[in-house]
Amino acid sequence: MEKLIALPIKGEAFLLIRDGKTVLVDGGYNSNDLSRALKIHAPDLKKIDIVICTHADRDHAGGLASLIDISGLTVGEFWLPGAWADSIPELIENPSTTMLGLISELDRTPQDLLKSLPNDVDAVAHHFETVATAERKEANSQKPADDFMEREVPFSYKTLLESLVYWDERPYSDRNYRNYRHYRRLLSRTERAFESGRSQLRYRKAKGKITQSVANYWLELIDAAQAIRAIAAQAIRYGVPIRWFDYTAFAKSRSAQGGNAQFLEPLNSVEQPPPPPRKLSYLAQLSPANEQCLAFLAPADTTRLGVMFCGDSPLGDGPSYANSFLTNKIQPQSLPFVATAPHHGSENNQPAYRHISAWGHPLLWVRSGGSVKQPGATYKAIDPTNRACTHCPQKGLELREAVVHLDRSTLCFRVSSHECVCR
Ligand SMILES: [Zn+2]
Ligand SMILES: [Zn+2]
Repeated sequence: MEKLIALPIKGEAFLLIRDGKTVLVDGGYNSNDLSRALKIHAPDLKKIDIVICTHADRDHAGGLASLIDISGLTVGEFWLPGAWADSIPELIENPSTTMLGLISELDRTPQDLLKSLPNDVDAVAHHFETVATAERKEANSQKPADDFMEREVPFSYKTLLESLVYWDERPYSDRNYRNYRHYRRLLSRTERAFESGRSQLRYRKAKGKITQSVANYWLELIDAAQAIRAIAAQAIRYGVPIRWFDYTAFAKSRSAQGGNAQFLEPLNSVEQPPPPPRKLSYLAQLSPANEQCLAFLAPADTTRLGVMFCGDSPLGDGPSYANSFLTNKIQPQSLPFVATAPHHGSENNQPAYRHISAWGHPLLWVRSGGSVKQPGATYKAIDPTNRACTHCPQKGLELREAVVHLDRSTLCFRVSSHECVCR
């Protein structure tokens, strides 16, 4: 039986069962809730063939951080954003370096640029690109050519595994640990590295050097770094292959490639080996930009409904996200599909509905996650019989799974869900 289950947890997590295989797209906020929901809604599940993380926001990535440890399930492959391959080697080998770099970027960001956050991340990222290029030129002019080595960390499970043992498995303890005794247990070196990043932000906030919103923005970058590291660490510890889906390559070529043909295909990324380090600023590496969120399609055919996983993607780029990502994917008009509501139904992603409707005819929108700010007017304007929510945040309904049967021979494809009462 082919089906799509929107799991009843906070944040967003979808389980797809297709061709006898299982795919998990995102994992909500935390691994305990995710594991419990998987046990209830897929009791016979032993192995998830593909685990996708669409982007590093906590409501999608948080629950994948300890998925294997807590659920005891086997994972066949991780499909991850290609941009992460840039930051993972350093995050595994020495998360303190990443924290130092991230805080130092904050200290070096001119005050007027900080004011533009969080709305204009590009301006700040661009500032660091300019600084980095100048620094590299300076370094090149001062040192003889063969003395200047660009740092290139090879992505090797074997070497990274040794670092993991050092950073994660022995709890950190020294004389200073008494300062940390308000924690219930000893922190690992890794946890301590991230915690010291956070405490430096709190210090700057307390001293009035940064505003609360800037502090929050940087705290989100630390959360993203921690989630990325945790997901990669699982892959390395359990020897699970990672497949990389690169948005940047798609943004240039406009041609999505890779994935598993006819089963699950990328919509806005190109599958490729880990790219060489791009030397982006930490801010640019870790910034949660919605248009970089990965989107996938399980294509429809004559026997079954398709599923479009939109994540938080607006499915387009450029001014007002007006340039659709879907122009290169050919959809036979007659084949119906189910779509996940873009960005939890947020009005910011309004162009996505236009792009999807210009491309094909979604039968049903399945919405999960988000806050009382979501969903927005466009989602609410959809005929209520064509939408399902795991919970309708503005009505305070309790969480409930939404299950959709994908076999076209079944008379009723919607099996279980709230009638969406968002209005
Ligand atoms: Zn989200
Ligand atoms: Zn609803």
